[in-house]
Amino acid sequence: MVQSSKIEIKFFASGYCTAHARVVNPKSGNGMTRFFAVWALIKHPELGIMLFDAGYNSEFYKATKTWPERLYRWATPVDVKEEETAKVILAKEGIAPEAVNYFVISHFHGDHICAMKDFPSAKFLCTVAALKQVKELNGFSAVRKGILKNLLPIDFFERVILLEDIYSVTIDSVSKLKFYVPFHFDGLRFVELPGHARGMLGFYIKTEEHDLLYATDASWDKTTFLNKILPSPIVKLFFDSWKDFKQTNENLLRFLTENPKTEILFTHCPQTLKHVKNAF
Ligand SMILES: [Zn+2]
Repeated sequence: MVQSSKIEIKFFASGYCTAHARVVNPKSGNGMTRFFAVWALIKHPELGIMLFDAGYNSEFYKATKTWPERLYRWATPVDVKEEETAKVILAKEGIAPEAVNYFVISHFHGDHICAMKDFPSAKFLCTVAALKQVKELNGFSAVRKGILKNLLPIDFFERVILLEDIYSVTIDSVSKLKFYVPFHFDGLRFVELPGHARGMLGFYIKTEEHDLLYATDASWDKTTFLNKILPSPIVKLFFDSWKDFKQTNENLLRFLTENPKTEILFTHCPQTLKHVKNAF
C-alpha cells in the first residue's frame, strides 16, 4: 500500500492473458508468459474512491464472441474468474460499485477497461487524444488498435470527462514528459505516455518512503525497459505509434535519472506482482 497526504493506493490484478515471452523480450524470451491485468484502487481525500483501470471480467468473452472482435480473443487468450474481478475485490474491501466516483482509463485496451460497466456512478477520465481515437474508430480498425467498443457503457459519452478540462498540463523540462497536475490539491499527478496506445496515461505520486511512477503499458517488463531492450517489432501491428513508444521510453529513462528515488512499475511486469494485494 502506498500512502501520501492521505491518498491511499492499493494494487490488484483481475485475470490475465497469455502471450509469447519473446514478444516482450526478443533477445532472451522463452515459452509463454502471463500478462496479469493489474489496476489500482485509489482512496483520495478530495475525489473519493477512484479506480485506475480495473482489469478483466466476463464482459471480455461477450465482447469478443463475433468477428472481427473475436480476433482479439484469438490474439490474447484470457483467463479471468468471477472472484478475481474488480467488483468482487472491491466488495471485500467494503466498497459498493456505486461508491466508485471516478474510473481513470489509462487506455482503451480490453485488459484495462473490461469492467467499466460494473461501476454505474463512476465518471470516466481520459485524455482528449484517447477519446478522439475511440470516437473515430469502428469495427476492424478499432480491433486492430486493441479497442473493443462493446465494452463501453451505453452512456459512456455522457459520463466521460477530459483530463485536460480539469487538470493543468505541464511539460517536465528535462524528461519532456507531459504531466496533468490538479488545480486545487496535489499528491497525485497523471502522466501521458503515448505510443503503446493513443494518449495513454500513467500516474505519479510522491510518498514519504519513495516516489512511485506507474507507467502502465509504456513497457511490459522493468528489466527489459532498464536495459533498453524493445519488444518484438510484431507489436507494431497494434501499437498506436512505434516512434512515440520509443520516445516515451527515452523520456521515462531520463525522468528516472533526474528522480533517482522513483520506483517505476508497469501493468504487466512480473515484478509488479509483489505490490499486488491478491497475489497469485
Ligand atoms: Zn495496452
